[in-house]
Amino acid sequence: MKYSQSKEEFLRANKTIPGGVNSPVRAFKSVNIDPVFIEKAKGTKITDIDGNEYTDFVASWGPLILGHANDTILKAINEAAAKGTSYGAPTKIETEMAELICEMMPSIEKVRMVNSGTEATMSAVRLARGFTKRECIVKFIGNYHGHGDYFLIKAGSGALTFGLPDSPGVTEGNAKDTLLADYNDLKSVEKLFAERGDEIAAIIVEPVAGNMGVIPPKKGFLEGLRKITKKHGALLIFDEVITGFRLAKGGAQEYFGVTPDLTTIGKIIGGGLPVGAYGGKKEIMDNLAPEGAVYQAGTLSGNPLAMAAGVAMLKELKNTEGIYEELERRAAKLEAGILKNIAISGTKAVINRVGSMMTMFFTNEKSITSFDQAMTCNTEQYAEYFKLSLEAGIYIAPSQFEAMFVSAAHTDEDIDKIIEANYKALI
Ligand SMILES: *Cc1c(COP(=O)(O)O)cnc(C)c1O
Repeated sequence: MKYSQSKEEFLRANKTIPGGVNSPVRAFKSVNIDPVFIEKAKGTKITDIDGNEYTDFVASWGPLILGHANDTILKAINEAAAKGTSYGAPTKIETEMAELICEMMPSIEKVRMVNSGTEATMSAVRLARGFTKRECIVKFIGNYHGHGDYFLIKAGSGALTFGLPDSPGVTEGNAKDTLLADYNDLKSVEKLFAERGDEIAAIIVEPVAGNMGVIPPKKGFLEGLRKITKKHGALLIFDEVITGFRLAKGGAQEYFGVTPDLTTIGKIIGGGLPVGAYGGKKEIMDNLAPEGAVYQAGTLSGNPLAMAAGVAMLKELKNTEGIYEELERRAAKLEAGILKNIAISGTKAVINRVGSMMTMFFTNEKSITSFDQAMTCNTEQYAEYFKLSLEAGIYIAPSQFEAMFVSAAHTDEDIDKIIEANYKALI
């Protein structure tokens, strides 16, 4: 494939945009090549400005569970746009969105819309602190909750990829209120609560870790967090920005049967537009202004275009019979195909998968259940694999520590294609 136009555009972008990109992982740095610039996408196909076409398994990092440019969502956005793009005043569709979220994810009794996952987690933690009148939070090493200051302590995703677990600009004051625990290790959590239980406002957790590669919760881990928080009067926040509406209609909390106090969501609920939200029990959510004293606001929050896209997305997910079973079937087929390739080629690798999210880890370990194990991965081997995949017309995340997403738009043929490309890349 030729990438000359992308190379040229990247040089141009670098002159006026830091690193040439508006979000770090897009720069392909951890796979040591220049990024491809995208021209357009439809369904599962994404086309770059050199005219190369790829089958996409990034799905804009999670949101596009129905594939690119879904007709129903596009229609909703177009109809909304014709009526104006923002009013800064209440609209009916915001309530419709809230009702859909509350219905699909019953632990959410009230919900506030924001514009990104980052905003959702920052606001949820402020609310948890305001509600409990405590200052510390517990976060897991390698979990990613957006780029809010007090989350950029041993964070996952881009922060992990670039080896910047502690970003300059995050103050010591912020860092001292973030207590770190090990994912899938209840003992590390119990220890923090034994020492400082009465200072801890909340535990925030990705119920399935997705930003150090996919790592499922061990049996009893989420239940344990529920128990510990209850015992100590702290809140449990599920960061379902990836898992919400992906693992099940009701997200990871439905999938695993554990109910948090607050939930943060994003990605899928925007239908491809910039949206986040946080919600939970009424008595907690009613502490938000203007009802309560905890302040949080947004000029474009509940934006009519974003709400139109989100409502269309959630309705499709809610009303399409068997959609999650079908996602599971296709993702399982993909996993089985790759596992076979791993065995045939003698590659040292393991796969973690929960529903339609999965990661292939290049590692000598037998399984990856912790951050430390994830760190054993051979990222150079991943970079090589990424390049070969791209050449074969498969677009996957340009980092070992991300998820691959199967969408409802992926056909069996798409799945076969990636299994074949994976075979060539591993052999
Ligand atoms: C992507 C992500 C966020 C941040 O969302 P943005 O919309 O990128 O700000 C937060 N939490 C998790 C689990 C995520 O995957």
